[in-house]
Amino acid sequence: MEKVNVPELFGSMVFDDRVMRARLSDDIYTKLKKTIDENVALTDDVADAVAVEMKAWALENGATHFTHWFQPLTGVTAEKHDSFISPSPDGGVVMEFSGKELIKGEPDASSFPSGGIRATFEARGYTAWDPTSYAFIKDHTLCIPTAFCSYSGEALDKKTPLLRSMQALNRQAKRVLKLFGNDDVKYVRTSVGPEQEYFLIDKDMFNARPDLVYTGRTLFGAMPPKGQELDDHYFGVIKPRVNAFMEELNNELWKLGILAKTEHNEVAPAQHEMAPIFSTTNVATDNNQLMMEIMQKVARKHNMVCLLHEKPFAGVNGSGKHNNWSMATDKGQNLLSPGETPYENAQFLLFLCAVIQAVDDYQDLLRLSVATAGNDHRLGANEAPPAIISVFLGDELSAILDAIKNDTPYEGAEKVVMKLGVHVLPKFRRDTTDRNRTSPFAFTGNKFEFRSLGSSNSIACCNIMLNTVVAESLKQYADELEKADDFETALHDLIKRVIKDHERILFNGNGYGDEWVKEATEVRGLSNLKTTADAMPHLLDEKNKKVLMEHQVFNETELVSRRDIMLENYNKTVNIEGLTMVDMVRKNYLPAIERYLFRLAQTTSLMKSVSDNVKCNYEVSTMERLSELTDHILDSVKVLEDVLDKFKGIEDVVEGSAFVRDSMIPAMEELRKNVDEAEMLTSERDWPVPSYGKILFSVY
Ligand code: ADP
Ligand code: MG
Repeated sequence: MEKVNVPELFGSMVFDDRVMRARLSDDIYTKLKKTIDENVALTDDVADAVAVEMKAWALENGATHFTHWFQPLTGVTAEKHDSFISPSPDGGVVMEFSGKELIKGEPDASSFPSGGIRATFEARGYTAWDPTSYAFIKDHTLCIPTAFCSYSGEALDKKTPLLRSMQALNRQAKRVLKLFGNDDVKYVRTSVGPEQEYFLIDKDMFNARPDLVYTGRTLFGAMPPKGQELDDHYFGVIKPRVNAFMEELNNELWKLGILAKTEHNEVAPAQHEMAPIFSTTNVATDNNQLMMEIMQKVARKHNMVCLLHEKPFAGVNGSGKHNNWSMATDKGQNLLSPGETPYENAQFLLFLCAVIQAVDDYQDLLRLSVATAGNDHRLGANEAPPAIISVFLGDELSAILDAIKNDTPYEGAEKVVMKLGVHVLPKFRRDTTDRNRTSPFAFTGNKFEFRSLGSSNSIACCNIMLNTVVAESLKQYADELEKADDFETALHDLIKRVIKDHERILFNGNGYGDEWVKEATEVRGLSNLKTTADAMPHLLDEKNKKVLMEHQVFNETELVSRRDIMLENYNKTVNIEGLTMVDMVRKNYLPAIERYLFRLAQTTSLMKSVSDNVKCNYEVSTMERLSELTDHILDSVKVLEDVLDKFKGIEDVVEGSAFVRDSMIPAMEELRKNVDEAEMLTSERDWPVPSYGKILFSVY
């Protein structure tokens, strides 16, 4: 690969601040910045002026088309390309792009899921420019990040509620900061650094497996002799083909201004991770969507396929995503970082408490924000955090909170009773806060790491919830403290009370253990929502509706539609998997086993015809067991067919999801078990699809 000049390459396809500052007049630039930073409404003259420069810049960089780029509720991004061309009187064309086209679009939205919103309200939807995320060029197309709404104002996408949740947190955090004398803070924003796991496998292997092609995961497959038990892949030397992929991926991401930073092999064979440097949540979300898309494209160019499914292979680790989350002011102060002065420390502790309380009060919202059919395979499966949400703080910070709660001396540097506003907290070293990998929600020095996300999840969903529920804690604190006569005493009492009331959510132990499940559910009363079907209906619990509506993140219609869409997605995903299994069993597996049985039978009769002394033990015993297994396979495929048929008759999505959980998934598991055993007894030559071993070790 030729040498790249990274600083020159970085952001070269982005209409970023550098480009805006260079190309826009001072007046327009200042106005646009006010829109971006302080949410001041955009005026037409600014939109027109920006459109002119954006078009000129896009044409200079090879764009021929533009698109409003948005994130409908399908979970992927959507785009509809329009060329810039407009006919001129002389028979030619000119390249045109107006302020109107920049700020508003009307995609034919009728086939995006809306959970009934459009049916109930307006038939059409529109997209609206989000100036807080930079426009960029991809495949000769100027992509303009946009929100997607119905004409009656309901959000049909993930960006709109995310932006609303960021506003909610901004509002409440500023109130709290004021109480600490921080009057000049213009805004508080949350930042996210999402670490992304994925698998890379050979394209020919992928194409040979109908299950991977149709569902993104293997629905059958016996374990290979070697899996991940040697831990020799984790942080291992990166193979040449993977390395070439990563090099090209980095270049493509850098061009788009994505801060691709860290890359390494993960635990499972063929598994890798990529992490960008954190950025504002909204931008991080757009970038993560882009990153997932580009990973898949670049992999194809290298004759590989990038699997983003949470559990492509049973028996080896699945893929997740870690959402590293923090709050910071426009002055660059990280509100989750212990400060230099006692006062700053008290402020830090209050923000910390806000997160602890929020996670405790809304465990179910956080859980359901990462719930998908794919992620259900991971959570609680001893490779990923459990479905039980708890908070890890580390020993040092836990000891400090204990000391505050009990008015006892903290055994830290000073050995004194911690009085907020008086004593300086010790600095937490990262290594003392980041040892527990089994916690779903861990404090890691100056940020929280939410580790329950699935690799294909949009990070929008969990950040919408996180921002909103933390905004709610902060609102309660601001309401209380604004009324207090003696701020410091009130603050001290409040923090003490929050620690006492919410200590059940704090857990520093092993989240993978069975004892934890018992303690969490039976002693502490934490919720354990194991599947999407269990979790998603809680979106409409009164307390959850209340918090999301009061902070104006969702209205009721949007909530109902989202629950329906998420459950429908779960139902459809599993249903497609079930249909694929039936298809593979009937067309591939049974005929293949039959072929092998035929050869064994032929061999046996031939051998016996040659000599009466041959016993053919191997042939006969294999035939006996395989014949039993084909009977089991036939029985279990019939059960599954029956279940799939019954499912067709269920109209209600909630009822459907319970049926999927209780009937469809068990039927699929039973069928798989029998086929996987047959695979172990059948010659590889006759087996119709590549084995796990071949797929997992296909890339060198
Ligand atoms: P690991 O969790 O694997 O030890 P890193 O230390 O590389 O990983 O951090 C993981 C992610 O956290 C990176 O994307 C990084 O940019 C991000 N991150 C670091 N500081 C913050 C912060 N203050 N807010 C949000 N994300 C952050
Ligand atoms: Mg991490």
